[in-house]
Amino acid sequence: MKKDNYKQTNFIKHIIEKDLKNKLISVIKTRFPPEPNGYLHIGHAKSICLNFGLATEYDGTCNLRFDDTNPMKENIEYINSIKNDIKWLGFKWNNDVKFSSMYFDKIYKYAIELINNGLAYVDLLNQEEIRKYRGTLKKPGINSPYRNQSIEKNLLLFKQMKNGFFSTGEACLRAKINMCSPFIIMRDPVLYRIIFYEHHQTKNTWCIYPTYDFAHCISDALEGITHSICTLEFQDNRRLYDWILNKINIKYRAYQYEYSRLNIEYTILSKRKLNILVKKNIVTGWDDPRMPTISGLRRRGYTPSSIRTFCDKIGVTKQDNLIEMSLLESCIKNDLNTNAPRAMAILDPIKIRITNLPTNYLEILMVPNHPNQPNMGYRSVYFTNELYIDRSDFYEQETIEHNGLILGKEIRLRYSYIIKAQKIKKDKYKNIVEIQCIYDKETLGKHPKNRKVKGVIHWLSTKNTRPAIFNLYDKLFNIKNPEKEINFLQHINTESLIIKKGFVELNLLTTNISNVYQFERIGYFCFDKQINNTIATFNRIISLNINKTKKK
Ligand code: ATP
Ligand code: MG
Repeated sequence: MKKDNYKQTNFIKHIIEKDLKNKLISVIKTRFPPEPNGYLHIGHAKSICLNFGLATEYDGTCNLRFDDTNPMKENIEYINSIKNDIKWLGFKWNNDVKFSSMYFDKIYKYAIELINNGLAYVDLLNQEEIRKYRGTLKKPGINSPYRNQSIEKNLLLFKQMKNGFFSTGEACLRAKINMCSPFIIMRDPVLYRIIFYEHHQTKNTWCIYPTYDFAHCISDALEGITHSICTLEFQDNRRLYDWILNKINIKYRAYQYEYSRLNIEYTILSKRKLNILVKKNIVTGWDDPRMPTISGLRRRGYTPSSIRTFCDKIGVTKQDNLIEMSLLESCIKNDLNTNAPRAMAILDPIKIRITNLPTNYLEILMVPNHPNQPNMGYRSVYFTNELYIDRSDFYEQETIEHNGLILGKEIRLRYSYIIKAQKIKKDKYKNIVEIQCIYDKETLGKHPKNRKVKGVIHWLSTKNTRPAIFNLYDKLFNIKNPEKEINFLQHINTESLIIKKGFVELNLLTTNISNVYQFERIGYFCFDKQINNTIATFNRIISLNINKTKKK
């Protein structure tokens, strides 16, 4: 998408441009505020590209601030993975990494200020009662019997909360707003709750923690954030965001803007749900190449620029959306089409014997690493009397829809000769074990006039191979919008990984600097790891559309 179109679909840019023009701000300051309770997914990439992208475009800054107000769900592993993913995506945060927990002292003082001004109270109702008293969208809430305690009593109780006098759930600090507000968030929201759990940053200093709503707006203001951008589910929370900042004595004032979350077909974008897939061993980990996490996409072979391009294309609006997986795939396809060297791989080998060649025949052919980019150079491949082709490229009988090697017919081997299948050998189970062919030595790099061949297929010499495992990935779910399902686990695609054992060119990983290849006629693959120093494992990034094999 052209930059101009992108501009039309990013309404936050209009807001920023207006604010700059009207001199409401001179330098924009954004932040990306992940909760370190899981690995980042592509939805977060949207937020990262937006926040860091705006800062870059308007010469401002973007903070990375961990929203670490719930120690029970957070840990250092998540913090490190998040930092790593942001760097990998190509962004740099302003100065040091920040944590909401850096402001716990200040936030605590603001809580005291609210109590002193009669705007917050310690509630001793239990969680169940609080829920009941809160009412519903149709029914107004009821005031807690503790709502009108004296300021002194509240100060004392809050101190006791801080000093560990109460156990979890026995007390909480609530803002005194309006139990009849049409916005449930404004019905005396909880500002502090008791959690006895060691915090990864503040260790055992605190046993009370501010809620997201209380900590977030204050952290934004303390950091001088100009545009606090979040997703639409926080739209109602904006009232509370503004209420808190208006009621406390704080120099700076930040504003919140909401945009719609990214949803992608056939996957889920929620750390909590992705964690379930990891915990239940439905995937091999957060970086399983089927996962929509940034680490999963990276292992799958996605490049940072393909993800940034994708985020540019989807734009930033307030409309609900479910983006097609093919849009993400097209971004990586365009990237790889230009940049990935070509190579040959056989996923399901079947042997070809060239009967009019001696067994010790060896010819070295120079083949291009990229058909349209001579600067990518050439590599040598062997042509010998024993070759492998893919089983799916051979047909005993002629069919209209397939362009493969057919018994009695000719085919061209990519960058090589025309061969003709003459005979097949089968084992006792009737599986083909060998196809006997003859080759035409006049056809290297030449195509005799009026000679029709069925197509061009890829191949490997049996003397020039390295064993390889190919992980063929497919979508994780078999329904378009698993996010909407209560029992999303029922819709897992049980065939999201198919493993094939075959071969790649012997020198593939040594002669090329790349880790990513287009295996001709099959798809784009990314080298994953090596097993026993010999077997190379490749992850399929995306397949090519190979219904039509062009003649060459
Ligand atoms: P999750 O439900 O996956 O945990 P979250 O919103 O709770 O998501 P946070 O760590 O709080 O995760 O998110 C950090 C930032 O990323 C927030 O500003 C949030 O609004 C944004 N974000 C999260 N998910 C998406 C998404 N799917 N699309 C766009 N932005 C997102
Ligand atoms: Mg969250």
